[in-house]
Amino acid sequence: MPQLRKDPVTDRWIIIAEERNNPSSLPLFEKEEYSANGFCPFCYGNEDKTPAEILAYRRQGCGPNQRGWKVRVVPNRFPALQPEIGVKKEARGVYDWMSGTGVHEIVIEHPEHKAGFETYTSEDVEYILWAYKDRYLDLRKDNRLKYILIFRNSGKAAGASIEHPHSQIIATPVIPKRVSEELKGSLRDYNFKNRCVFCDVIRQELQDKSRIIAENKDFIAFCPYASRFPYEMTILPKEHSSDFSSISENGIESCSQVLLESMQKLLSSLDYPAYNFVVHKAPADNENLDHYHWHIEVVPRVIRLSGFEFGSGFYTNPTPPEQAAALLCSKRKGK
Ligand SMILES: [Zn+2]
Ligand SMILES: [Zn+2]
Ligand SMILES: [Zn+2]
Repeated sequence: MPQLRKDPVTDRWIIIAEERNNPSSLPLFEKEEYSANGFCPFCYGNEDKTPAEILAYRRQGCGPNQRGWKVRVVPNRFPALQPEIGVKKEARGVYDWMSGTGVHEIVIEHPEHKAGFETYTSEDVEYILWAYKDRYLDLRKDNRLKYILIFRNSGKAAGASIEHPHSQIIATPVIPKRVSEELKGSLRDYNFKNRCVFCDVIRQELQDKSRIIAENKDFIAFCPYASRFPYEMTILPKEHSSDFSSISENGIESCSQVLLESMQKLLSSLDYPAYNFVVHKAPADNENLDHYHWHIEVVPRVIRLSGFEFGSGFYTNPTPPEQAAALLCSKRKGK
């Protein structure tokens, strides 16, 4: 029987339409492969083919823009927004206009072209999270930037034009709509209950257990109760914090373990689908919020959106999250 479920943060309704489900046929469209012999500017040895690096973790004794690195951060050669432009705002009749001020950086996660969460060690993931944190702390000094979004596209169906494992950082002069919905929704809940709704969700997930994918003492990964997409996952620190960039060294270690374990379960169970993940945190100019809780959202690209989703803002998900969690956990154990 189909059911409607409401997301407790955003109040978005989703439809779980289980009879449409056929897990054996996921993903529901062909994987698009990358060309095998194309040139890759992110590969080890091609350091001079990218703009000069902004940050790199490298072996002692080797200079910038050379070999010897573990993670490199470079400006995007084709940026969505540009830092040189001053912020200008105008009303053009009914339309609001703003200059494209911002920053667009690439985090090259690993020297090897074919690496990824399927091959990473926990230490590899720690280096990536350190790069996110270090770049975030630097970018937030620019008070023109209201939000710094860290995200990852993997696979053509998820929007990654280059196969080499990388994530991106886009800093914008406005707060993204999805984040402001979460901020508003969680503030409304906080004003009513005087508690963080995300902390309540964690408590409930720990009690229910049926949607948990991975967990350690500091972090939890689960398929959300009102998942928009099949096998969607959320990763949260168990202790309340709205600010990813205040994460401690131990926190990075713990987060890496849970992120890696949940990603590996997802990838191996679904035959290495394209996916996106995004880090959501409080805005750069207001980072310590009692009502908001930073998190990572992971969405495998296993179904396409239809006119119904596009036209209504409802999502129709054919895989109940309890079933998704069971599959992600069972396959892995069998391997
Ligand atoms: Zn490469
Ligand atoms: Zn919280
Ligand atoms: Zn979010």
